[in-house]
Amino acid sequence: MLIPCPECERQVSDRAKACPDCGFPVAEHVAEQKREAELAARLASRERVGEIDCPRCEARGFCYFEAKNEHGETRQLFTWCEDCKHSGRLHQCRDLGGYYAVSHAALEGFIAGELDVESEGVTFVGEAEVVEHRYDRAGEVWDDDETPG
Ligand SMILES: [Zn+2]
Ligand SMILES: [Zn+2]
Repeated sequence: MLIPCPECERQVSDRAKACPDCGFPVAEHVAEQKREAELAARLASRERVGEIDCPRCEARGFCYFEAKNEHGETRQLFTWCEDCKHSGRLHQCRDLGGYYAVSHAALEGFIAGELDVESEGVTFVGEAEVVEHRYDRAGEVWDDDETPG
């Protein structure tokens, strides 16, 4: 396809490495514009579609971790999950690139297109919507003094 060179406006092929007149890197510029347009379309397509199991705590609402006590013994402890705020469920969102688990804290920024896919609280889950839940208790909010079994 012929396009006007962005620098000198002479008609050049959009695959030309450089404009024959002014040397402007045409193909690179065209590829960059395409990437930007695709990214903008992907960000604009974001929406929340429902709920999904929290990947961080595996839908339990809490995470196990190991710690040593004062006697040097390793004990398994748990901490409430910050991403899902103890509920075991996150927001499920989608855009043109697929589906994502998005934490409560990240939801607003993700929908607004301010957070990219590698941001904290955002996990890519695949091309298809996830509709299954792994644990019966996911979705409940645990009491702080309750010990998970
Ligand atoms: Zn040119
Ligand atoms: Zn969680």
